[in-house]
Amino acid sequence: MTEKIEKTEAAWRVQLTEQQYHVTREAGTEAPFTGQYDDIKTTGIYRCVCCGQDLFRSKAKYDSGTAWPSFWEPVDQRSTALMTDQSQGMVRTEVRCSRCDAHLGHLFEDGPQPTGMRYCINSASLDLDTEE
Ligand SMILES: [Zn+2]
Repeated sequence: MTEKIEKTEAAWRVQLTEQQYHVTREAGTEAPFTGQYDDIKTTGIYRCVCCGQDLFRSKAKYDSGTAWPSFWEPVDQRSTALMTDQSQGMVRTEVRCSRCDAHLGHLFEDGPQPTGMRYCINSASLDLDTEE
């Protein structure tokens, strides 16, 4: 069991930019095509911008044709937590960081094989650690 990270709203506000705070702590969505990781193929590992937990590898990133970074699997099933989101008149599966509850994005079942999953993730919730 991963140890949970909990911080006050004020502490998150100090640590994060306004955009990062809005997305991760208020379940916001960044505007289409604006995210810094939307259209890149750099090799590395994407970590939670809030707590640094490993979330996605660049090899699981693919061009989904949507306006946000998309992955077909997380680093580890335990790194993300899935919740039912009924906001905005839709029933969707919300993806959160399992360690600090940061809102990351949503999960859809129209991704490529082998998983058939599409993790549609906000760039603002990620921090790419590049590797050679
Ligand atoms: Zn986190």
